[in-house]
Amino acid sequence: MMAAKKKSTRGRKTCPACGETTGARTRTCKCGHEFQIKTHKQSVRGPLDYSLEELENLVKAKKAVAEPLAKLIEKHGAEVVLAEAQRLAQ
Ligand SMILES: [Zn+2]
Repeated sequence: MMAAKKKSTRGRKTCPACGETTGARTRTCKCGHEFQIKTHKQSVRGPLDYSLEELENLVKAKKAVAEPLAKLIEKHGAEVVLAEAQRLAQ
């Protein structure tokens, strides 16, 4: 039985390695090629490679530091600010 279904490419992509058409959300092709999928959820942490928990705890300990903290990080970098916050928290 022949399906008169129109072949749609919407929501699908073609593997550059083997030419196979896969679903748009497929992360890895059957041939093993890995598609690069843009995700926005991963970039929540911002420019800090530091543990934000660590900073937050320090901020909680010294509430006065909380407000200018973001600006300080922007200006001096997390490393300097964290060191200073640790010094203040002692
Ligand atoms: Zn492939």
